Amino acid sequence: MIPREPPRQPQIGFVYYPPFRVQGMSIAGEATVVQVPELDVCFDIGKCPRMALASPYVALSHGHMDHSAGLAYYFSQRQFQGMGVGTLICHPGLEEPIHNIMRAWVNLEGQQTPYKVVPLAPDGELEIKNNIFLRAIETIHTASSQGYVIIERRSKLRADLIGQPQEKLMELKKAGQAITRTIDIPLVCFTGDTMWGSHFDRPDLLGAKILITECTFVEPEHRDRAAVGRHLHLDNIIDLLDRSKAEAVILTHTSRRTNMSETRRFIDAKIPPEHRSRVHLLMDSRANRARYAQQLQTLDSVKST
Ligand SMILES: [Zn+2]
Ligand SMILES: [Zn+2]
Repeated sequence: MIPREPPRQPQIGFVYYPPFRVQGMSIAGEATVVQVPELDVCFDIGKCPRMALASPYVALSHGHMDHSAGLAYYFSQRQFQGMGVGTLICHPGLEEPIHNIMRAWVNLEGQQTPYKVVPLAPDGELEIKNNIFLRAIETIHTASSQGYVIIERRSKLRADLIGQPQEKLMELKKAGQAITRTIDIPLVCFTGDTMWGSHFDRPDLLGAKILITECTFVEPEHRDRAAVGRHLHLDNIIDLLDRSKAEAVILTHTSRRTNMSETRRFIDAKIPPEHRSRVHLLMDSRANRARYAQQLQTLDSVKST
């Protein structure tokens, strides 16, 4: 008798929400890595699938192995493939443990891998692209944790000066007056692992166009598990949908205790119809394929008209 084939790897999840792609892998306790290629960032690194290497920044939510295991490999492969030194952004409490891991690899390998760690305290910001800032947001989990919001910072003419002639504006500027104001547009938020708390009242989290949130448990009997592990439950997501202005809410970190078709069933039954179309499950490859095929088709029909 011929033995069975080895089990297949789960597929990389993919939600295209123009102009951003959200792609990666996120299964509770196994691996979480969520990349937005257009913003140069990977949220968490999971086991470092090949696609993650293309991001020059990794924003780590916390140190649990399913989110951080691939770190040293990420730095090493970026170096090996000539992609430049990778940068890791993390909670200040994790900076030293990460240096320790990298030191351990020097001893193991007998060679040094270049890497960069940037500690970012909650509400701290780092400019990752021109006018694009990564902001850390405090969350609550069983280990030191934080989520992130990516902000686009634009400079706009002061509201009271709109319609004024150019000469007047130049005059004010010469006189040392600020004629512009800064506005922050939250583009993408990634909560990382977290329980429900006051961070879900934050305007930057609620205003993000794309909200990537964990939803570890969906079954009513799993509410206790969510509380013990300091995770979110589908019930929290329903509250969140009422508040969030996000055009796309992408659920990640679902538990294997409930399979994908069951998870989809719970979501369809619980989420009010007015919110259903903006909720996506990162690891629902069937729905992802169908949505993408639909997007391609729409593009084709636009081209041919
Ligand atoms: Zn996790
Ligand atoms: Zn965790």
